[in-house]
Amino acid sequence: MTNLLPEMAEIWQQTLNWQPTVQQQGQFQRLYELILEGNRQLNLTRITDPQEFWEKHLWDSLRGIAPQRQFIPSLQEGTSVIDIGTGAGFPGVPVIITAPICTITLMDSTRKKISFIEKIITELDLINAKTLVGRAEEIGQHPQHRQVYDIALIRAVGAASVCAEYALPLLKLGGLAVIYRGNWAEEETTALQNAVNQLGGVIESIEKFTTPLSHSVRHCLYLRKVANTPANFPRAVGIPTQNSL
Ligand code: SAH
Repeated sequence: MTNLLPEMAEIWQQTLNWQPTVQQQGQFQRLYELILEGNRQLNLTRITDPQEFWEKHLWDSLRGIAPQRQFIPSLQEGTSVIDIGTGAGFPGVPVIITAPICTITLMDSTRKKISFIEKIITELDLINAKTLVGRAEEIGQHPQHRQVYDIALIRAVGAASVCAEYALPLLKLGGLAVIYRGNWAEEETTALQNAVNQLGGVIESIEKFTTPLSHSVRHCLYLRKVANTPANFPRAVGIPTQNSL
């Protein structure tokens, strides 16, 4: 096997004040191999080079749950996390590998992707991971999922206000949504503010950072749920994207 992921212990330490255990490094490696394998049948990711995979999938996924370079303190036993539009498992799979005492729901609208995720869960023995096939617009109206999660993660699914409309209904009061972004311009904040207000949230912080190897710019938007989301949100399938808040 020539596709060996780098360890990057020093970078993990410097950037997130953390290092993977031998077991976690093994799970990252296995995840990488399964994705390379899965890529032959499914279009999972363009990112296949080991360094690039480490940076853009592993490091990026974990940076989002480490605002101010420290893992969110509430990532502990009993905390329920949902990853909306997880695709090949990002950011959710690296997050559950790192915080295995949380429970995580890996959700996507594509059945084929979720079948692949189920294989990952079995192979990596991720006992606290569950899967869910569905559209965020429907899941957010379902009593079993609405207002039950502590943390919602969402990367590369849509515009920020669309992500907010998908994520905030799923959160408990006091819960946190993390929206992963590439670029973010100051002017976009006002529009997002307006959307988030209507959904019962506030923008708690926006963090800008650069990735440690290629020095690409990233942003994470942290939204806090401070009031109940009105019953009409999320709107019907397709409406949040067609007519974003
Ligand atoms: N989060 C992953 C995948 C991003 S691609 C990553 O960052 O690598 C976007 C994914 O979101 C796709 O797998 C797509 O099926 C899913 N998706 C898009 N709209 C959705 C919706 N409304 N509800 C649930 N999943 C959705």
